[in-house]
Amino acid sequence: MFVDSHCHIDFPDFSEGLPVLLANMQAAQVDAALCVSVNLENFPRVLALAEAHANLFASVGVHPDHDEGREPGVDELVSLASHPRVVAIGETGLDYYRLQREEVDWQRARFRTHIRAARQAGKPLIIHTRNAAADTLAIMAEEGANQAGGVMHCFTESWEVAEAALAMGFYISFSGIVSFKSAKDLKEVARRVPLERMLIETDSPYLAPIPHRGKRNEPAYVRHVAEEIAGLRAIPLEQVAAATSKNFFDLFRAAI
Ligand SMILES: [Zn+2]
Repeated sequence: MFVDSHCHIDFPDFSEGLPVLLANMQAAQVDAALCVSVNLENFPRVLALAEAHANLFASVGVHPDHDEGREPGVDELVSLASHPRVVAIGETGLDYYRLQREEVDWQRARFRTHIRAARQAGKPLIIHTRNAAADTLAIMAEEGANQAGGVMHCFTESWEVAEAALAMGFYISFSGIVSFKSAKDLKEVARRVPLERMLIETDSPYLAPIPHRGKRNEPAYVRHVAEEIAGLRAIPLEQVAAATSKNFFDLFRAAI
């Protein structure tokens, strides 16, 4: 019924092990999840999850906040993305929260590398942007990100940013943040984004939705994100579930 379009269940936070997480997903009617890569060192672990489970998928990429480890090249990303269980390139993008814009030329170069790889591999992008919306949209436009398509993950930006991403053919993914009382502007964006261009995610282990806020997140909780959106739009939960799941399988050309 539901799909978690973005999680990090390869992280050590999930010490109880995969069988428990998968059982919780099943109990919450969460049929599938995309396990998103944040660096090349842990990519084999992400891929192993997707190889072992028909309802788990993998991406390949290096997160903009990751400043240790190996820098990916276009050819390497394209080659890793050719694996049938790898359905996307990312997560990539820009993040000027921890490091200032002036300090991170390498983030912008890395972002361009990922977009070029996605275009070459013919796989969609998973884009992270924080305090960097203008640069993110500018680089997407310059590099022709619309030719790869993809998703603006864990969206927290304005309606104008959403509109610009939608115009480039991108999907908008909402996380548990949309359920927070303080997220008034974001709730308004979640009312306006067309249902046929919307995804839902947990970004677990981070950002648990209400009623689990402050605790460790997990894919089963994506259901609460769908409930929040159904409430905001005053439509049945089933409609949100059906649309966001169809969007997931369309965008990532995946099937279970
Ligand atoms: Zn993430």
